[in-house]
Amino acid sequence: MGRLQKILIPFLGLVLAFWFYSARDNFKPEMLKGKRVIVTGASTGIGEQMAYHLARMGAHILITARTEAKLQKVVERCLELGAASARYVSGTMEDMAFAEHVVKEAETLLGGLDMLILNHVGTSYFGYFNGDVGHVRKLLEINFLSYVAMTASALPMLKQSEGSIVVVSSMAGKVGFPFTVPYSATKFALDGFFSSLRQEFSIQSINVSITLCILGFIDTENAVRAAAHLLLVAPSPRAECALEILKGAALRRRELYYRYGATRLPLLLRDWAGELLDYLVRSQYRLDGLKRS
Ligand code: NDP
Repeated sequence: MGRLQKILIPFLGLVLAFWFYSARDNFKPEMLKGKRVIVTGASTGIGEQMAYHLARMGAHILITARTEAKLQKVVERCLELGAASARYVSGTMEDMAFAEHVVKEAETLLGGLDMLILNHVGTSYFGYFNGDVGHVRKLLEINFLSYVAMTASALPMLKQSEGSIVVVSSMAGKVGFPFTVPYSATKFALDGFFSSLRQEFSIQSINVSITLCILGFIDTENAVRAAAHLLLVAPSPRAECALEILKGAALRRRELYYRYGATRLPLLLRDWAGELLDYLVRSQYRLDGLKRS
């Protein structure tokens, strides 16, 4: 009995502490009202949905991607939904000068920045690694270096506002995924850079939060077109995913997992049963449709 108490009481304490911690952090849409937010990759997919949620919450929104016609439509919809203001800048994140220009536009148009949401992703192939080093370099520029460039430019404004950086990553940035080798590499790079930067912010008492978002398969048009026929798992809804990202960002969470059960729980195996996790990842694929390299 005595031994049971010794285990049970600390365990109950931990459960209560966890409950207390979770209950304390309640998201309210007003948290994002009037905030000045950049969303990259917002012409479609999860980025577009984040723009709409932010609009409903009354934020000032600056969106970016390459396709001007789509951005125009997203901006119009944001204004209909109640955005405090909505604007776009079009261009490619292959160009670091453009990445920095977007941040400058926020300074000019919004007079500062509260949240930088880094979400865009360059097109890659879905299949065995084809040896194309040039493609890996290009994807690193779009998916990683432009994130770094925007962060560096935005930091003075984010320090001033005690704002937030949101980095949209993937399960493929935490564990090896087949058929997306270049993409996976860029997402691992994001984890290394932003997790290290968070440590430095902590040491220097810089009050800028960094939320790394670890997503599973989401039902965006591009992802479904590229992968649905090869995956045995069903995609999760992009509008719900976008809202969860914004909640995590507003609550200044360190990491955000969506959906939790499908992403966080398998990752718990990573350090203790890596081979089992690798096997579980591989077993999510229909391999018959893929050509050998
Ligand atoms: P989409 O492919 O739907 O959208 C990508 C966005 O990035 C578009 O707005 C696109 O617009 C923009 N973009 C693409 N290339 C460039 C470029 N060179 N320069 C500037 N913008 C560019 O992506 P998702 O919504 O599916 O994904 C969003 C984020 O979520 C990504 O970071 C992705 O890695 C992550 N994620 C998604 C998952 C999924 O299953 N959907 C799973 C795990 C993570 P345009 O073409 O007009 O430039």
